[in-house]
Amino acid sequence: MEHLHHRILIVGGGAAGLAVAARLIRAGQTDVAIIEPSHRHYYQPLWTLVGAGVVAKEASMRDERRCIPAGAHWIKDAVSELDPEHNRVLTTSAKSVGYDFLVVAAGIRFMWEAIPGLREAIDSPHASTNYLYDRAPRTWELIKNFKGGVALFHMPGGSIKCPGAPQKIMYLAADYFRKSGVGRANVIYGSAMPSIYGIPEYAAVLNRVVERYGIDARYGHELVAVHPRRREAVFALKNEPGRRVTIQYDMLHAVPPQGAPEFVRDSALADPQRPLEGFIKVDQFTLRNPGYQNVFALGDVANTPNAKTGASACKQAPAVAANLLSVIGGKEPRASYDGYVACPIVTAYGRMLLCEFDYGGKPTPTIPFINTIKERRDMWLLKRYGLPWLYWNMMLTGRSVPFLHSGGEQAATRRLAADSQV
Ligand SMILES: Cc1cc2nc3c(=O)[nH]c(=O)nc-3n(C[C@H](O)[C@H](O)[C@H](O)COP(=O)(O)OP(=O)(O)OC[C@H]3O[C@@H](n4cnc5c(N)ncnc54)[C@H](O)[C@@H]3O)c2cc1C
Repeated sequence: MEHLHHRILIVGGGAAGLAVAARLIRAGQTDVAIIEPSHRHYYQPLWTLVGAGVVAKEASMRDERRCIPAGAHWIKDAVSELDPEHNRVLTTSAKSVGYDFLVVAAGIRFMWEAIPGLREAIDSPHASTNYLYDRAPRTWELIKNFKGGVALFHMPGGSIKCPGAPQKIMYLAADYFRKSGVGRANVIYGSAMPSIYGIPEYAAVLNRVVERYGIDARYGHELVAVHPRRREAVFALKNEPGRRVTIQYDMLHAVPPQGAPEFVRDSALADPQRPLEGFIKVDQFTLRNPGYQNVFALGDVANTPNAKTGASACKQAPAVAANLLSVIGGKEPRASYDGYVACPIVTAYGRMLLCEFDYGGKPTPTIPFINTIKERRDMWLLKRYGLPWLYWNMMLTGRSVPFLHSGGEQAATRRLAADSQV
């Protein structure tokens, strides 16, 4: 076994891992290593627009090498075990990597096995998912070639990344069907959730969108099986135990249930209160693991009680970097992530609703002078052009995104600057 050691080790070089790494390097840290197996990096929010035929999938992808911040060590490997007791991780190619401080940002695992027939359905000609880079273009093929019948859009229960994504593609499909004159389109939303959205102010807007398209929204519908050859999706009704409903579809957009990668779920860092999902237990404000004071987690893998989005990771990164620097300096972590989530919900080709809120569940619009609690053309342009630019050029390089400011980030950024003098 090969033995390595780094002062700060980051597991996962996705959105969250790179954002933290870049901030730590900017703050003067010289021994930061990232373990990341993939040679490709994806800006996943673009996959909604890939599925809608707006951009090619390649626009969402860059070489990982180009994204790793200069000065960070890239260990091109996959972690197979977290061993916080001995301050080390083990990798699939038999490396033992020790650390003084650990940041886990390993993202999410798709639990296809939780719904019999789902994976087979996604590989069949009538179904797709925007949650896979290679499948998102197929979603567009299905929408483009839809000649009428049932277009079924599925939303699972449990924590998933970007919980708005399952309905975004539905609105774009419904808009496309209308504009291209598909007469007999019966768009059905089969959702395990009790309503269209958890924040009443945004739900009010989205309910009007659902009504506008004549979408048949069925809530409390948990997908339990798919029979791809018969093109049937079977739902259990949450409010009527034991009752099942089968919907026959002509096209299906489905989303896998999600949890932490297995090596995270099986580790001492996982939250024992949610054993099936296995996300890492963290203090929701400092993002530090309560059991191991030198371990932080952020992004999709962290068990914060809010939606998992890239925007959340963007706001968590300064807090983690600042708190890590405090702990390195022998102080208590004081930067606080306020639960900020941004969820850009495209409601038509050329229209978007920017949902922003914090742990309090209240809308927290951050763009000055305009009313973002409604569908807007300029917000579509933000989604199409602005956010990708900010992602590649600001978030991944450890800079603050200019207008998505919250008190939490400003405080964290000030703290980071102060602590880096330690
Ligand atoms: C269709 C879709 C639409 C979305 N739309 C939006 C949106 O509009 N707005 C928004 O804010 N967010 C959106 N998101 C969510 C956003 O992409 C994620 O929340 C964000 O990427 C989370 O960052 P992360 O670093 O935690 O995970 P990721 O970016 O997924 O990175 C995790 C990294 O960990 C690595 N990894 C995995 N296993 C191991 C291992 N064993 N060892 C080491 N490394 C490992 C992976 O290779 C990966 O690089 C969307 C996602 C999807 C799929």
